[in-house]
Amino acid sequence: MTSIAANLQAVRARIFAACTDAGRAPESVQLLAVSKTWPASCISQAIAAQQRHFGENYVQEAIEKIAALGSETVEWHFIGPLQNNKTKLVAGNFAWVHSIDNLKTAQRLDNQRPPGFPALKICLQVNVSGESSKGGVSPEHALQLARDVSNLPNLSLRGLMAIPAATTETAVQRQQFAMLREVKTEINRHGLELDTLSMGMSHDLEAAISEGSTIVRIGTAIFGERQ
Ligand SMILES: *Cc1c(COP(=O)(O)O)cnc(C)c1O
Repeated sequence: MTSIAANLQAVRARIFAACTDAGRAPESVQLLAVSKTWPASCISQAIAAQQRHFGENYVQEAIEKIAALGSETVEWHFIGPLQNNKTKLVAGNFAWVHSIDNLKTAQRLDNQRPPGFPALKICLQVNVSGESSKGGVSPEHALQLARDVSNLPNLSLRGLMAIPAATTETAVQRQQFAMLREVKTEINRHGLELDTLSMGMSHDLEAAISEGSTIVRIGTAIFGERQ
């Protein structure tokens, strides 16, 4: 077994254990393998080990890997900051975007989604840490953005994503994940039907799952430390 296959198995075991602890079905959490900075050959190893969802942060780098590996067996998720001059490439190559925090970018993706493609699945990135260095719409403005994005016909608004402040304190991790869950509950109370919480990374997936995560985004624990 390659180390990537072994790491995937270990991450799946962590997800399974966290779901069991939380009284949740293991299938309710999807594993997104974050392959940024790693070559297509590493992704191929993960594909051989039955991994299907991959997350990328840098458009140009991702496009090369998507061209090499295709989109038939793999579902590609864009999870990084998105500049307006890159929206067309993202609209034409990805199935999901997790990092939408403004209406203008969403409108561009909606306009640029190629005809005949299924709706682009969207998560709004919410700033749950209050750090000004972090992207994301504020929790107070998330409902309005959700309403606006849900009206765009070529997008399918699915949920919320957060990158919490880095901390090893479980209580603080859980507090930030709980905030994202509460924002989703509040949006759904207003008639939308979000079903996705994209939260949890290599060091905090257990806390995220205990607070309701449905997609964990895992890089380091699968592929190793990035340079
Ligand atoms: C890099 C990245 C991850 C993966 O983080 P790890 O700590 O390597 O698991 C998850 N989400 C986003 C948005 C990232 O940029």
